[in-house]
Amino acid sequence: MTNDIQKTNDTKKTHPTKKANMAKATDRPHHSSFKDPVLANPDVLILGAGASGLFCALTAARRGRKVVLVDASDTTGRKLRASGGGRCNCTNLDATPGHYLSANPRFTAKALQRFTSGNFLDVLASLGLTASEEDQGRMFCDQGATVLADALEAACRKAGARFLLDRHVTGIAANVIPSEATGQGGFRVETDGGPLVAPRVVLALGSPAWPALGGTDAVARLAGSLGLAHVPSRPALTPFTFNGPILCLCRELTGLGVTARVTCLGKAYTDGLLFTHQGLSGPVALQISSHWRRGEALTIDLAPGADLRQVLRDPTRGKALARTLVASVLPRRLAEALLKGLPPEVIAASEKRSAELSKAHIEALAEAVHAWRVLPSGTAGMARAEAASGGLDTAQFSPKTFECRALPGLYAIGEALDVAGELGGYNLHWAWASGFVAGQVL
Ligand SMILES: Cc1cc2nc3c(=O)[nH]c(=O)nc-3n(C[C@H](O)[C@H](O)[C@H](O)COP(=O)(O)OP(=O)(O)OC[C@H]3O[C@@H](n4cnc5c(N)ncnc54)[C@H](O)[C@@H]3O)c2cc1C
Repeated sequence: MTNDIQKTNDTKKTHPTKKANMAKATDRPHHSSFKDPVLANPDVLILGAGASGLFCALTAARRGRKVVLVDASDTTGRKLRASGGGRCNCTNLDATPGHYLSANPRFTAKALQRFTSGNFLDVLASLGLTASEEDQGRMFCDQGATVLADALEAACRKAGARFLLDRHVTGIAANVIPSEATGQGGFRVETDGGPLVAPRVVLALGSPAWPALGGTDAVARLAGSLGLAHVPSRPALTPFTFNGPILCLCRELTGLGVTARVTCLGKAYTDGLLFTHQGLSGPVALQISSHWRRGEALTIDLAPGADLRQVLRDPTRGKALARTLVASVLPRRLAEALLKGLPPEVIAASEKRSAELSKAHIEALAEAVHAWRVLPSGTAGMARAEAASGGLDTAQFSPKTFECRALPGLYAIGEALDVAGELGGYNLHWAWASGFVAGQVL
């Protein structure tokens, strides 16, 4: 690995001058700086060595294709390496189209049928790795995210793929060279280390989510220069922020987690909710954030496994104070903080024995617990988004091959496309499935 990276950096430094890089668009460039035959004359350039790019490269290189991956980072798969907090929720046993957001919800179906979570687990096993299910079909790589990323990179290299790391893609032009392979003219990719040319190019540049881990808007920019439609990106799987009394409550409870059911705009998820210094996070908050729109309130059932109405009406517990019974279905700190925020008459009622409560007070207390309504001031945005919705409009691509209908030889995979998965291993599974399907036809 070190040798290749060294080679890459050397190549970048000694690349022909800018003037030479501006060679006529119709020239078939011979990269004199590339002595390596794969680098000098690749069958396919994969732009982005993240999860989808690596998987696509592995599939294509094992089929004998001369593959070159180009990435702005000096490390492959940066998001993959950080995935699942380093534990890598690498796939989901229920990777079906219903778990993906896209303007074209059926687009994912064919790839997900062709490349299932079982297929991914087989690849994992072939790399000497294993995964275990935690909950809701979520599979985590037992050896962790870094080991998986390293294994994928090593397998790509073993299959003959080359890496040009620390190299930013800055532009792309289609139909610039006569191409024997496609008869369509191939592609010229501009990078900060000079131009690269190939008959086939795969856009695997991900989304703008989590820029500190390499998220960029490169796909939107390249789409503009290629004349392709791009659905504006929005942060997905990102925490909520609040101000006012709810923020105070979140700060008071920072670090506390409960299982909650959160509903917004007709969508509902049940999973862990975490109080943080900025607001609400945890899997359930991230899930619903993908559907949330500014100005919409969240309705939160803080004790979905209990029925506080029934508990408060239970004659056998009639002597218990109402606030004690509230605390029987919630962590005590949360019960106390929640009660403090209620109208004075409800707070007063919570000091009574449950048998003395009016119907209206039972209802008010039950609502506070089972239908807590909070209005987020916003989200942490792209800075902390684990994915982004939006991307290249999928109508322009074949769901069987991921090739662009208008520009044969151009492919797009992973988050570069308008496909965003739910939390639970779905995004990585999409990267694998789309990368595999494209890699099979390159
Ligand atoms: C913190 C975090 C945790 C996550 N955890 C999980 C998880 O546990 N399970 C799960 O399923 N999903 C998880 N995800 C989402 C998952 O990592 C992504 O959906 C997945 O990596 C997308 O793969 P991709 O190949 O499309 O994009 P990426 O993996 O983002 O790869 C895109 C590549 O393109 C490169 N690039 C961008 N712009 C340029 C440019 N101009 N020139 C050259 N290269 C460029 C980037 O450096 C990057 O390497 C997580 C995401 C984050 C941020």
